[in-house]
Amino acid sequence: MGDPKDKQTSDRKPFAKKSLGQNFLVDVSYVSKIVSALGLSEGDLVVEIGPGRGALTGRLLETGAQVAAVEIDRDLSRLLEKEFGGEARFRLVTADFLETDLRDIVGGRTAKVAANLPYYVSTPILRKLFANRDLFSELVVMLQKEVAERITAAPGDSARGFLTVLLERGFDAEKLFDVPSGAFRPVPKVESAVVRLSTKRSKTDATTDAEFEELASAAFRQKRKTLKNNLGAAGGSLREKIEKKGGADLVLEQSGIGPSIRAEALTEEDWRSLAEVIFG
Ligand code: SAM
Repeated sequence: MGDPKDKQTSDRKPFAKKSLGQNFLVDVSYVSKIVSALGLSEGDLVVEIGPGRGALTGRLLETGAQVAAVEIDRDLSRLLEKEFGGEARFRLVTADFLETDLRDIVGGRTAKVAANLPYYVSTPILRKLFANRDLFSELVVMLQKEVAERITAAPGDSARGFLTVLLERGFDAEKLFDVPSGAFRPVPKVESAVVRLSTKRSKTDATTDAEFEELASAAFRQKRKTLKNNLGAAGGSLREKIEKKGGADLVLEQSGIGPSIRAEALTEEDWRSLAEVIFG
């Protein structure tokens, strides 16, 4: 796919396309660590996002699992078909992951996800996985280290943000290990880390994901401000709901949350109480 600058980032053929976040994992010890973290058994289904040159794909297939891989780059898809197309347990979808119908890809089964994610699009991919989490038991994903730390940050850590609490609603997140930039070709400018996200099966509260997203997005709108200020400045239907419940002060009091707290300090239990007071 066609950014002319991509040729200059090439390491060996086919050219690595910077515009598609192509940094290929070449250190096999990390390939093994990622694949063993998934604990795959024969017959399991794993969705691989961005198989690239197949560094993970081959090892995933060796476990006996079925692999449904989604790759956006036609040049790489041709290579992948050549290498793994003869394997009945391998299925390749050449498409933008964000445009795929995941329900169709998993075909009524519960799958796992393996990915060394393209970093330019990791947040929308994680959000899509969150929205479709009923299809997945577990995700093992490589992310930019900073993002991995953000989504696994504990309450009180200033690294926490909207994505942290959104994913926390759907998954138990655990940082597994760091991966140095030298493990990739071309060598990326950022450090990486692998995270496991295990889907929570119990429903967190009575609110919908859309309501929770509206609340979390307002709560983190100005990170340095208190939750009370951010909720007081909320707009749209959230504002109406908060006003109906007597305003931000009262909502926080009824949720058992102190008036000077910031959104980053809220525990999962606090988010649940707050969401229930506002939307319940
Ligand atoms: N899995 C390979 C590895 O570990 O060496 C490649 C990882 S590379 C960081 C990211 C891969 O995602 C590339 O193959 C890239 O073409 C692919 N990709 C980028 N954007 C994508 C998208 N929107 N949908 C599907 N694949 C995408």
